[in-house]
Amino acid sequence: MALRVYNTLTKTKETFEPVRPGHVGMYLCGPTVYKPSHIGHAVSPILFDTIKRYLLHKGFDVTLVINITDVDDKLIVESRAQGLSMAQLAEQVMGNYFECLDALGVRNVDAFPKATENIGNIIALVQRLVDNGAAYVVDGDVYFDHTKSADYGKLSGRKVEEALSGTREVASRSHHPADFALWKAAKADEPSWNSPWGPGRPGWHIECSAMSMAILGETFDIHGGGMDLIFPHHENEIAQSETATGKPFARYWLHNGLTRIRTKAAGGEWTNEKMSKSLGNIRTISDLLTQYSPETIRMFVLSTHYRRPLDFSDEQLDNTEKAAGTFYRLFERIARTTGEDVYTSGEGLNRVRDQAGSELQQQFVNGVLGCRVKLYDAMDDDFNTAGAVATLHDLAGLINRYIDACRLEGEGKTADKALVAAAGRELISSGRLLGLFEAPPAAATARGLESDLMDLLIDLRTQARRGKNFAMADQIRDRLGEMGITLEDTPGGTVWRKGT
Ligand SMILES: [Zn+2]
Repeated sequence: MALRVYNTLTKTKETFEPVRPGHVGMYLCGPTVYKPSHIGHAVSPILFDTIKRYLLHKGFDVTLVINITDVDDKLIVESRAQGLSMAQLAEQVMGNYFECLDALGVRNVDAFPKATENIGNIIALVQRLVDNGAAYVVDGDVYFDHTKSADYGKLSGRKVEEALSGTREVASRSHHPADFALWKAAKADEPSWNSPWGPGRPGWHIECSAMSMAILGETFDIHGGGMDLIFPHHENEIAQSETATGKPFARYWLHNGLTRIRTKAAGGEWTNEKMSKSLGNIRTISDLLTQYSPETIRMFVLSTHYRRPLDFSDEQLDNTEKAAGTFYRLFERIARTTGEDVYTSGEGLNRVRDQAGSELQQQFVNGVLGCRVKLYDAMDDDFNTAGAVATLHDLAGLINRYIDACRLEGEGKTADKALVAAAGRELISSGRLLGLFEAPPAAATARGLESDLMDLLIDLRTQARRGKNFAMADQIRDRLGEMGITLEDTPGGTVWRKGT
């Protein structure tokens, strides 16, 4: 089946054809690095890492870029509050972000360009817009003239008048409320760079246009991000990029659903709320990783289709952890009954299928191969990872039933053992397409022990503080600090993370 993707720009599912045959350029809007990464920051990278894995499997050469916004009003405000420079704060938060992505198996990102390292590209793009009359300068600010983009609104489907109500940025000195800042004149004591319009810093939208085009070319294949970025961010990226180059910007726009927090109200009914500071429901990834294995979190994210809202709750994660456990038990069962470790390479199904002589064996091989086709079909249908995860469960069920049917737990036949081990490898390699089953779950178990020991230490420290034994409490914190573990006291209790 040919790969089809839902394109927000055309609002239809289209057959995927890259700009350059065989090559795919993907750009994903990354975080503004001013606060520790929360679960919402991990969702798009997990999805796009998985999309890249599948495109690689299909034989494409893929470049995946995620940008880092390391200059912004929020960064300036937060760094002042913490008594740090903007660069120091960005460095710290970025470190946490990269650690979290690595833990979650997001290892296929080719470049993480930073806004502050691309000021030259940004200024050149703004200059291009000024030169062709699509941007104007007001006292050191530069604004994009939205009337110069004939099809402004084509991504979000909003008309300019409607669009205004949703604009985050109040561009007070622009000629029209729909015009947005490309470059902002520096206020006193703000970080700034020299430009043809005086010292200043880039607007948020322009950095993504400049960095994506610098790495992937003026027209590239896939632009992604959360649905909340469609307007104004992505709309403005399209307007400024296409007005500057006269060429189409990104061919396919893929947007993932909002991450929501599912909570139980006092009355017992469940509600899904947006993550927000005011609701106090933001969960950091580091915090989540102390409770759940990275594989559980990844499997949970992939168990929902990327365009649907993703509702996080401990209950859902507990369920996913149990579901992951059925795979681990099966891998152990295969090792026990066949003597083969399916995590390491060995004979694949194509090599051993000739050993399927009986009808039952034939049926088993066909069932396994049927799952392979189902998984590819799901991924070809707009990267339906939820369907793919369901197929992994189908395959696991098939293997378990076959082990029962041919009584491998007892003696068993050599041919059946070879078929079951090969089917187990098929399950592992199918999982790896999604970034799952990369390694035996020992890592997850070790994390469980580590997490239990940390809970114990935190309990002891809390008790010491309650008993006013502050010397002991401080000693626990300091000794953990020497081991590179930071404790943070929050209103919800003490949490820990590796690193500062
Ligand atoms: Zn962006």
